[in-house]
Amino acid sequence: MSSQISKYRDSVTTRYRCTACGNLTRFDVVETTSIRSFHHFTVGGDLTVEEPEIIAKNVESVTCRWCGHGRAVEPIVESSDV
Ligand SMILES: [Zn+2]
Repeated sequence: MSSQISKYRDSVTTRYRCTACGNLTRFDVVETTSIRSFHHFTVGGDLTVEEPEIIAKNVESVTCRWCGHGRAVEPIVESSDV
């Protein structure tokens, strides 16, 4: 039933910019990630996790380390979206 969820493009990394202080490199990012994976147990109970796939990723908040808040933080949109 989750066919509308296309495979997450994990090569895409969102960068951020703080327009208040110009910070491009230091952020506190709070995010939740949902991962579906194949848990493969041996008969002895040892677990191997295989084929992890990110099915959802949600950024809760991004805070500038210098300003201490995220009010001026905005994502940098990469234009390499061919
Ligand atoms: Zn800042």
